[in-house]
Amino acid sequence: MSRNLFEEKIASITGEGLFSEGIKIVQVNLGLKCNQACNHCHVDASPQRTERMEWPTMERILDTAETLRPSLVDLTGGAPELNPSFRKFVTALHRKGYSVQVRSNLTVLTEPGMEDLPDFFAEHRVGLVASLPCYLEENVRAQRGSGIYEKSIEILVRLNRLGYGLDEDKPLNLVYNPGGAFLPPEQAKLEADYRRELQQRFGIFFTHLLTIANMPIGRLRGKLRQAHEEKKYLSLLRESFNPGTLSNLMCRHQISIAWDGRVYDCDFNLALGCPVNHGAPDHIEDFDKNALEKRRIVTGNHCFGCTAGYGSSCAGALV
Ligand code: SF4
Ligand code: SF4
Repeated sequence: MSRNLFEEKIASITGEGLFSEGIKIVQVNLGLKCNQACNHCHVDASPQRTERMEWPTMERILDTAETLRPSLVDLTGGAPELNPSFRKFVTALHRKGYSVQVRSNLTVLTEPGMEDLPDFFAEHRVGLVASLPCYLEENVRAQRGSGIYEKSIEILVRLNRLGYGLDEDKPLNLVYNPGGAFLPPEQAKLEADYRRELQQRFGIFFTHLLTIANMPIGRLRGKLRQAHEEKKYLSLLRESFNPGTLSNLMCRHQISIAWDGRVYDCDFNLALGCPVNHGAPDHIEDFDKNALEKRRIVTGNHCFGCTAGYGSSCAGALV
């Protein structure tokens, strides 16, 4: 087993491990099926994956949310929209008064049977986080495949027409991730570039741009290995360690629940199959608010992906 250099780094700063400070966000991974199979995908999602959350687990999450009253329920996947109980779950969360956010790859909204989803989102005040790794077509094609860019633009125009990215209660945040083994640039500067280019080229508006670092796990790790770039990228992440990111690390403020009800510190640990530990219950059936709110976080060398440079999380840069 390789040394956990991240844990050693944290211990040298805090004198102990990394601990949660409460649970404001509940992230729910509804399954690994996706209509795309992107190069950088950390959960190895694809059209062939069959793992998905069933309704009884969603019901359990609805019960648990009553105890936690999180400020946000963040739905992810794969493409969460492809889960057959997706609309039922969103409707139930909305009825109970939770803020719901969906991480959409946009192109799934062009799939058969999904055409009315943008209206469903608007009706249920669902916030959207949408991947658009570049405002230039060739870069999106290299990372996500051909035809993705055109479909994404088509959907963004449609979402704007419904008020997304324009109305305060219909946030439309875009996600940038690097097209290779390098760190994201400064978020605010890149956001200004995206805003200018998308407005000039297509008249598209959005709320914020979130920059997210590529994690050296899943499909990206395989690609890095193939290109003999894995070691170099891991060194870059380690050497770019920024202690200013530590207080905002997403694992300190949220939990991630997998399709099978298992509980993780974050979506990356979920992808690696490392559930919460250090004595905290690791399944939604054994949910214990106090134990999970104060849990010690399970870390690994991949965690350097969250603390490098400006930092990275599902909500973008950390500093
Ligand atoms: S990165 Fe997102 S859109 Fe691409 S395969 Fe993974 S889950 Fe699907
Ligand atoms: S990968 Fe990031 S969010 Fe997950 S446990 Fe490590 S530091 Fe926390």
